[in-house]
Amino acid sequence: MRLYSVMTPREVQNTIKAHFTPLELELIELGASGGRVVGKNILAFEDVPGFDRSIVDGYAVRAADTFGAAETLPAMLDFSGEVKMGEKAPSLAGGSCFYVPTGGMLPQGADAVVMIEDTEMMGDLVNCFRQVAPGQNLIRRGEDLTQGDVVIEKGRRLRAAELGLLASLGITEVSVYRNPLVAIYSTGDEIVPVHTANLAPGQIRDSNALALAELVRRQGGKVVQGGILRDDYAEFRQGIEDLLPNVDFLVLSGGSSVGKRDFTAKVMQELGETGLLVEGIAIQPGKPTLLAKCKGKPVLGLPGHPVSALNIFSLFGSCIMEQLQGFSGENFPATVKAKLVRNIPSRQGRTDYVRVKLKRTGEELFAVPIFGRSGLLRTLADADGVVLIPPGNEGFLAGRDVEVILWD
Ligand code: AMP
Ligand code: MG
Repeated sequence: MRLYSVMTPREVQNTIKAHFTPLELELIELGASGGRVVGKNILAFEDVPGFDRSIVDGYAVRAADTFGAAETLPAMLDFSGEVKMGEKAPSLAGGSCFYVPTGGMLPQGADAVVMIEDTEMMGDLVNCFRQVAPGQNLIRRGEDLTQGDVVIEKGRRLRAAELGLLASLGITEVSVYRNPLVAIYSTGDEIVPVHTANLAPGQIRDSNALALAELVRRQGGKVVQGGILRDDYAEFRQGIEDLLPNVDFLVLSGGSSVGKRDFTAKVMQELGETGLLVEGIAIQPGKPTLLAKCKGKPVLGLPGHPVSALNIFSLFGSCIMEQLQGFSGENFPATVKAKLVRNIPSRQGRTDYVRVKLKRTGEELFAVPIFGRSGLLRTLADADGVVLIPPGNEGFLAGRDVEVILWD
């Protein structure tokens, strides 16, 4: 039996970052760019806002005309008219004011806005009961962004807020990293296509290919289904060589452990530029995971156990996908705090991912561990998320407050 040199999850992530680089860029329409990663710094071509604007409903004034104004001694200003939304404001003469709605343009000569609540209209005069300082209640041209500023840095993912920001600047096309094309192979003599109606004894439907494809798509990839490879060295090798030139990333499910008939390690070792980059991760479920760089591309060997396969792809397949898509930030997982209802045992020296179901009782949230053999898909489908038990820990006791990493 070969010896494993098992890596920590962090070491695996660092290995991925060190060996794989982003794909090429493509120019796409802003409206279709949600979820994509920006490939070049995006600069502002104009000032935002493009003119001085009021941030309240009120009267645009010269601040100096209001100095000393108080409840008992209002400043009296001539009413000169109204600024219309979307129109250029007229100029303001000293001792007078213009009504300006929120977002309206500030008249030239005005340097502050008195809130409507602090005024009273009396014929052609406006009484201001409070003094304002220069700059009060307005936002200056270019205060949000000045022409030439970096609006969005290279490596950032575009969400609704970024799309809105770019749209406000009139930017309608963005340069983003190409979507990775990901090939998925299932392996194993016992694995048969999902449409097999009647299973012969010993056969198992290929559930991994579909489940993994869903993760790939959620992570911005396009899927090429390679089908099922028999447990045969030549077939494994041929399969990888057939699809690798056409894709950016190849995933094999099954055959990654050190059994007599497990060829993934052997083939990846041979095709890998520097052999295997990863040969086991100190993690449960999913320890027998393999990674190699073949023809410059990542090839990931996942354990066949469905729970392990999905856990590993969620943690490390996603890391590869991010690397290929040029994402340079850190993904902070969505978590909720919950009280553990049962003890969770764990072995020292490895990171355990324990599936839990969330239950709410009144205001309190409880995490119920779902124990089960790692091959059982049912335990995955029942889970709302996972509790991570760090390697230096022998488990968590019931009653402890834990963070549940939510699975979507
Ligand atoms: P392996 O990693 O090939 O030793 O497989 C481990 C377990 O996962 C075995 O019980 C397999 O039958 C099961 N398995 C492997 N590949 C798949 C698959 N594509 N779909 C569902 N189960 C699988
Ligand atoms: Mg197998």
